[in-house]
Amino acid sequence: MIVIVKPQATAEQMEHLLERIRQFGLQPMVSTGSERTVVGLLGDERLLPEGALESLPAVEQVMPILKPYKLVSREFKSTDTVIDVRGIPIGGKQIQVIAGPCSVETPEQMRSSAEAVKAAGCRLMRGGAFKPRTSPYTFQGVGDEGLDYFRTAADAVGLPIVTELMDVRKIDLFLEKGVDIIQIGTRNMQNFDLLKEVGRLDVPIILKRGLSATIKEWLMAAEYVAAHGNHRIIFAERGIRTFETAYRNVLDVTAIPVLKRETHLPVIVDPSHAGGKAWLVPQLSKAAIAAGADGLLVESHPCPEEAWCDADQALSPQQLMTLMGDLRKIAEAIGREL
Ligand code: PEP
Ligand code: MN
Repeated sequence: MIVIVKPQATAEQMEHLLERIRQFGLQPMVSTGSERTVVGLLGDERLLPEGALESLPAVEQVMPILKPYKLVSREFKSTDTVIDVRGIPIGGKQIQVIAGPCSVETPEQMRSSAEAVKAAGCRLMRGGAFKPRTSPYTFQGVGDEGLDYFRTAADAVGLPIVTELMDVRKIDLFLEKGVDIIQIGTRNMQNFDLLKEVGRLDVPIILKRGLSATIKEWLMAAEYVAAHGNHRIIFAERGIRTFETAYRNVLDVTAIPVLKRETHLPVIVDPSHAGGKAWLVPQLSKAAIAAGADGLLVESHPCPEEAWCDADQALSPQQLMTLMGDLRKIAEAIGREL
């Protein structure tokens, strides 16, 4: 951290600043130029509480140099982290497409969903038993028994399962059912108590980006999980809210290379909640993979028009199959595999 000192700062004000810096366990290095004086801080600047120096009379500006996130940053670990989910690597050369319905509905719907996901060549399956809905009057998910329908259907074809956790009181149930990846949804990206709890688990986490979250806020949310011990975190860009109303959200493609630069953790993209329309999903998926995403989270349904939730954006089994074929070509072109 570098502190720029006000030109009119008195000797006493300057001494007070240096004293405060030392009180926080840091070493001040004063550099007096012909026009300005700056103070460099040696040591871990994260020891400083936010805003601790800004209000001092000698201070004009405080400029951090270290990132506020640590464990998830590339500064901490320079090589890509590959997360192993029952033998399936996420974050390595191989791209993973996690497909399945928005919500778990019935045992039969889950059985045919699982068969279609497997037949398309996907190695993991998604589906929500607990749904975060905008309206309290719409379908909220089938609840506890949904995890059984999901587990049974996915086990029959050998696919690990990804499902959303909204409430800490369901953690024991998730562990009991052996949920392979816990999804923290957009609306809970900054539910810090939930993040702390999943941080204590030994289960990989998909952390979706908040509706209007900045990259830094998203990285800090992941840092919460990592700081509590769970380093197996996968970022999922799912579109952000902007002024545009022509589609559900704006897929932030730029976030992919930016995040890959800032963090060693895998980054995947959810083109379904970004576009909100099935016809947009193939193009957004291709853009995501071409931009360096490590995988996708895609909604598919055995019969999209009958889906209980997000029917407009679900791919049919045939559309999922076609998408996988197209993505395979892109993966090859960029030296990866699908
Ligand atoms: C979902 O993936 O089922 C979901 C609700 O997505 P999001 O949290 O991105 O809205
Ligand atoms: Mn959905």
